[in-house]
Amino acid sequence: MRGENLEKEIERVAFEIKNSPYTTVLTGAGISAESGIPTFRGKNGLWNKYRPEELATPHAFERDPRLVWEWYAWRMRLVFSKEPNPGHKALAEMEKIGLVKSIITQNVDDLHERAGSRNVIHLHGELKEVICSNRSCDYKVEAETILNEIEKKLPTCPECGSLLRPGVVWFGESLPTEELSKAFQEAEKSEVILVIGTSAVVQPAASIPLITKRKGGKIIEINPDTTSLTGVADVSVRGGAGEVLTAVLEVLKKD
Ligand code: NAD
Repeated sequence: MRGENLEKEIERVAFEIKNSPYTTVLTGAGISAESGIPTFRGKNGLWNKYRPEELATPHAFERDPRLVWEWYAWRMRLVFSKEPNPGHKALAEMEKIGLVKSIITQNVDDLHERAGSRNVIHLHGELKEVICSNRSCDYKVEAETILNEIEKKLPTCPECGSLLRPGVVWFGESLPTEELSKAFQEAEKSEVILVIGTSAVVQPAASIPLITKRKGGKIIEINPDTTSLTGVADVSVRGGAGEVLTAVLEVLKKD
C-alpha cells in the first residue's frame, strides 16, 4: 500500500512527462541496485568496502594493474550475470511510446539497452568493452572474450603490446567528448529531466540537469534519499526506481 503523498507525487510525475514535448533521463547506479548491482555510495555502496583511489584511477592501474583488473573482473562478471529490473523496463517502455527521448547514464552496465532502450548515452564508458591503455592505440575488444584469461595473465594489446584495461572512465580522466556533447544537447532540448538513482556528486554528470533547469525546464528526482540536486528539483519522489517508474508508467498508459 503506497502512502497518499507518494501517490500524489507519482501522478505529478506522470502529468509533467505527459505535458513535456521533450523529456530526457539521467540515471546513476541506483537504478541498477534493484538488479543486484551495488551502488558506489549510500547504504551497501561499494565505496564502503574499497577506496576509489586504490581501484578506479589511472594511477592505481599503473601501480597495481593486477589488483585493479581483479576488481573489474569481479564487477564485470557480476554485471553480466544480472538482468534489467522493472525500473529499466518502464523507461524502455516510455521511450517506445514516445514519452522519453533519451537516457543519459553514468552507469557502466548495459541494463538499459538490455531492457530495450535505444537512445542511451554512456558518459562513463561500459564494462563490456576493454580498450588499450595506450591512448594513441584504438584497439578495442569485448570483455567477455578476455575475462577467462585474467587470472592467468593480464591481457595485452595484440597491436601495440600495451596492457589492455576496462573501457570505463576513471576518476581524474576526461569524459568521452562526443557522448558529453550529446548529453548537453539532450539536456538543453528537454523541458523535463528525470534524475534517477544518482547521488549527483560526480561532475560533470551532476550538472547536466542544471542545463535543463536554466532553460526553464523541470528537474524530477527519483531517489530513496536526498541528493545534492534535491534543493533545485521541482519534484522529488522518495522511493525506489522500480516501484516509482512502474507506477508512473501505469498512470501514463491509463491517460
Ligand atoms: P552513487 O553510488 O553515487 O549513488 C547511488 C544513488 O542511488 C544514491 O543516491 C542512492 O540513494 C540511490 N539509490 C539506491 N537505491 C535506489 C533505488 N532502488 N532506486 C533509486 N535510487 C536508488 O551512484 P552515481 O551517482 O551513479 O555515481 C556515479 C558513479 O557510480 C558513476 O561513475 C558510475 O559509473 C558508477 N557506478 C555504476 C554502476 C553501474 O553501472 N551499475 C554501479 C556502481 C557504480
